[in-house]
Amino acid sequence: MQFLWHRHPAAGVAGSMLGGLLGCDAGDCLTMTTAPRIELNNGIAMPLIGLGTYPLDDRQVAETVVAATAVGYRLIDTAGKYGNESGVGDGIRACGVPREELFVTTKLDGGYQGGDRAIPGLDASLGRLRLDYVDLLLIHWPLPWRGLYVDTWTTFETILASGKAGAIGVSNFLPVHLEVLATRSAVVPAVNQIELNPAVARAGVRGYDDDHGIVTQAWSPLGRGDLVTDPTVTAIADRLGRAAGQVILRWHVQHGLSAVPKSANPSRLAENIAVFDMELSTEDMAALDQLDRGEAAARNSDTEGH
Ligand code: NAP
Repeated sequence: MQFLWHRHPAAGVAGSMLGGLLGCDAGDCLTMTTAPRIELNNGIAMPLIGLGTYPLDDRQVAETVVAATAVGYRLIDTAGKYGNESGVGDGIRACGVPREELFVTTKLDGGYQGGDRAIPGLDASLGRLRLDYVDLLLIHWPLPWRGLYVDTWTTFETILASGKAGAIGVSNFLPVHLEVLATRSAVVPAVNQIELNPAVARAGVRGYDDDHGIVTQAWSPLGRGDLVTDPTVTAIADRLGRAAGQVILRWHVQHGLSAVPKSANPSRLAENIAVFDMELSTEDMAALDQLDRGEAAARNSDTEGH
């Protein structure tokens, strides 16, 4: 078998949006509170900014999903490992937003990796969420020492065809892992969710993703909240009259990245998604780019994960 993915037509365009932003044009974006959507490589549309839900428990996450959807969030990011899928399901039921307007991501835990385990793993997640399908299903970590992620991916192809996932992707995959998938599968992941923020900027992974039409999505987009006190960030925020978190999330958006910031605080929830009416200058983007501490600062996907 020799699939070797083709270079994506939008490859190499920094911050390219694949099919482009959907759901708003330049004027509309100034006033909307709902994040614009990006078209994934199988044609479905994913909101650029979503709600991170780790480490919220069932009760906290249900309340947070209701609060987040009220201020415009439509993407909710959970995982089997977070132990809060039941609460996410409660929040979805309580929020009043029609299921088809929501974009629900979950991730298959390592314990369910393998050709025959992935479907039971997804079914368990769907049972807790009380949903018929998720919009995006990710392999949570590659766990390369176990040698199961290719078989897992092959089963994800079956899941995609069954309609239990609108799109399939990966998380914490390095180019070396993606290259293995490219020799064994014709289906290119729609998304690669990785640790990513101005201090851990991941140029190598982003470049690979861009070249192959994979949307890069940032976890810990605010550096677990630590980056909001960085002096470079606060100087830009003070000058623009914006919150530090907004400056960081706008950096993600202007680099063509999706992001799933977590907040359980209603005002920070609202703040984090209201980044489509602002613009960072080239100089501000360059100053934030300078915060990068290099690939070694990221969690090591060859040796870590679950
Ligand atoms: P994060 O979103 O970068 O930061 C979250 C922290 O920042 C929380 O303590 C939050 O506190 C605080 N915060 C949020 N908005 C803020 C603002 N505007 N100003 C100041 N502080 C703010 O980090 P994360 O939670 O590690 O990552 C986000 C999501 O990524 C997770 O929730 C999870 O869904 C996902 N994730 C995925 C993986 C993976 O392996 N795929 C790994 C880790 C995380 P408050 O709640 O008090 O606002």
